[in-house]
Amino acid sequence: MTTPAPAFPDATILGYPRIGRRRELKRAVEAFWAGSITAEELENQAAELRAATRERLAALGLARTGSAIPETFSFYDQVLDAAVAVGAVPARFAALADEQGRLDLAAYFTIARGVGDDAPLEMTKWFDSNYHYLVPEIGPDTVFSLHAERILAEFAEAKAAGFTTRPVIVGPATFLLLAKAADGAPAGFAPIYRLADLVPVYAALLEQLAAAGAEWVQLDEPALVSESIDVDRARVIESVGIAYDALGALDARPSIFVAAPYGSLDDALPALAATPVEAIGLDLVRGSLPEGLDPVTAESLAAKTLVAGVIDGHNIWRGDLAAAFDRVAAVQHLSAAVSVSTSTSLLHVPHDVADEDELDARLVSWLAFADQKVGQVAVLGRGLVEGRDAIEGELAAASAALADRDAAPGVREPSVRDRLAGLAEQDFARVSYDERVAAQESLGLPELPTTTIGSFPQTAEIRRARARLVRGDLSAADYTALMRAEIERVVRLQEELGLDVLVHGEPERNDMVQYFAELLDGFAVTKHGWVQSYGSRCTRPSILWGDVSRPAPMTVEWSSYAQSLTELPMKGMLTGPVTILAWSFVRDDQPLGDTARQVALALRDEITDLETAGIRIIQVDEPALRELLPLKLADQPAYLDWSVGSFRLATGGAVPGTQVHTHLCYSEFGVVIDAIKNLDADVTSIEAARSRMEVVDDLESSGFDHGIGPGVYDIHSPRVPGVAEVQALLERAAGAIPANRLWVNPDCGLKTRGYDETVESLRHIVEATVAVRAEL
Ligand code: GLN
Ligand code: ZN
Repeated sequence: MTTPAPAFPDATILGYPRIGRRRELKRAVEAFWAGSITAEELENQAAELRAATRERLAALGLARTGSAIPETFSFYDQVLDAAVAVGAVPARFAALADEQGRLDLAAYFTIARGVGDDAPLEMTKWFDSNYHYLVPEIGPDTVFSLHAERILAEFAEAKAAGFTTRPVIVGPATFLLLAKAADGAPAGFAPIYRLADLVPVYAALLEQLAAAGAEWVQLDEPALVSESIDVDRARVIESVGIAYDALGALDARPSIFVAAPYGSLDDALPALAATPVEAIGLDLVRGSLPEGLDPVTAESLAAKTLVAGVIDGHNIWRGDLAAAFDRVAAVQHLSAAVSVSTSTSLLHVPHDVADEDELDARLVSWLAFADQKVGQVAVLGRGLVEGRDAIEGELAAASAALADRDAAPGVREPSVRDRLAGLAEQDFARVSYDERVAAQESLGLPELPTTTIGSFPQTAEIRRARARLVRGDLSAADYTALMRAEIERVVRLQEELGLDVLVHGEPERNDMVQYFAELLDGFAVTKHGWVQSYGSRCTRPSILWGDVSRPAPMTVEWSSYAQSLTELPMKGMLTGPVTILAWSFVRDDQPLGDTARQVALALRDEITDLETAGIRIIQVDEPALRELLPLKLADQPAYLDWSVGSFRLATGGAVPGTQVHTHLCYSEFGVVIDAIKNLDADVTSIEAARSRMEVVDDLESSGFDHGIGPGVYDIHSPRVPGVAEVQALLERAAGAIPANRLWVNPDCGLKTRGYDETVESLRHIVEATVAVRAEL
């Protein structure tokens, strides 16, 4: 570069929630999908949201200029944005583009959501978070071409409003490492092999940004942190050099900031340090300060800006600000140029804790949502410039809040702690599977029993009743009566369909985690604490702040009512400890395993109460088991140990005659097959329809020998599978699994489906089962 690089800002964040403080973007996007606003109106609302975000970030202490404010808006997903920016649109959507290869908003959303027989891009979890990105499809012939219009327009829009922002885009290595091989790609092909073809497009983007006046650009490379990407690590490391040597060598470009959230860079750090990038982001919350650097790397790092990610972007605690400042100071040993930032984008946390006027004020004083975290970053940045004394007041206030939290009632409950301390090995195990099978004979189940995963469609009527209850427009008694009527309807429907093991349908559950969080001690629920899950979908995680215990039974009344309506077995339905943790904001002051065991004990008591009430089959859902799997291989055994252990603790008190089921979804079970086996559930229902039953072979070859229900109906789509299709899937499964262990069920709960398609699909499932039974 000819001119010296402008200094990196003292304080910044890696990204900010884009859904809006009141989910304005969700509403606008969904209105556009529904045809009630035009593309232009949607564009205008998005521009307003971006403008408000910039103003807010400036008000919270980020500099208006100097690239302190990142531009991380997206209409749907940042990985899709990158795919569109580099022209990597799957062939089936190519016709949506205009002559210049540009996509309008409608086309963009079509790639995200599919149309007719053209499936959307697949969706999967973003690292170990609960955010889902769209998976780019890259083949040997994918033609890359730059479409930087949106990135440039947002930069210009900010500039016109007096801001010099920092454009943010998923980096080239991560983009390809997260992509999947396009259909028809030869065996052995991996998208990362196309890096050399992709880099020139990023180069062109950087040149255009420089011409537009951008001083810094942020390229997100979290894939460098993860060891659980299905690509040889040496190849990952090599890709860093290829990409950033080339980009660094450009004559006219902004300074490059490579951010690496979600953990330590480890062996990717020397490779990145050796390239000409000007700044490197280190996640010092999940990751640690690099140690034992070789002299060459140490020297290269000393010449760069190190952006110390010391404020947790992935959790909602105010935390120990003084310790965070000390961590920044420690980075100063590596380089004289140090800046402060969040560890990850703030995408994972809600906007503003000040909106929570119904939360306990004491709890609020321990919390920091996105806006508070921006404030914290700004404080630490000021400390860097003016010295620690200048921010002593803020550091002390955070320490005082932390001490208050530590001593507050409910954070540590002696009764909960004593019970945990008294656990013995046998609390984690049931009698042998064979003994259980014998004790469960009396359930009188047919071969290939049919069942569903728990929820039935949550109709508008059900949701309206709940909203009225929350508003106080409906009495608790009337609400209960409505839910009971719904349960009865669902029971009669299942009887009429001929299902063997029934469910109550879960109409009373707003959400499979929040429902329990509201009934357990140690949790709090927010009003506006929404975070983006994918596209326009948001979740509102509960806050697990204290020791968990169960003041009263949580599901027994609903389940025993449902059982009273039928002679057929009714499944009790609980959410497992790992999933309750994964989909909540969890206390950070003790190991996750301890917290999981507390939740497990509460569930264990619930199971005992369900048994007493006459429920003989109990399902404990763990869809998030795979999600929390650590990105670093070395951390995985310990995780699997506590996660599987907490499930076993929750279910270990069930008598032999109680049939324990579990349910898992969100695919990619390969790495957790042994863990699934170790759960020791009597029956495991598992997502399988989309992958054409692959998981069945994996499980069987691992020596799995308990009951298994591979999903035969993909509930993620409104499509009704035909009888022949279900029958083929079942025959495939029956070829691998003995009939006395094979169950028949959909992939997941039916909550998001409509009644018409649900009834038809279930009818086909029962019909296919009858046909396959006759072949046995
Ligand atoms: N029992 C839950 C339901 O049917 C399971 C949901 C899930 O696996 N995500 O809705
Ligand atoms: Zn599921």
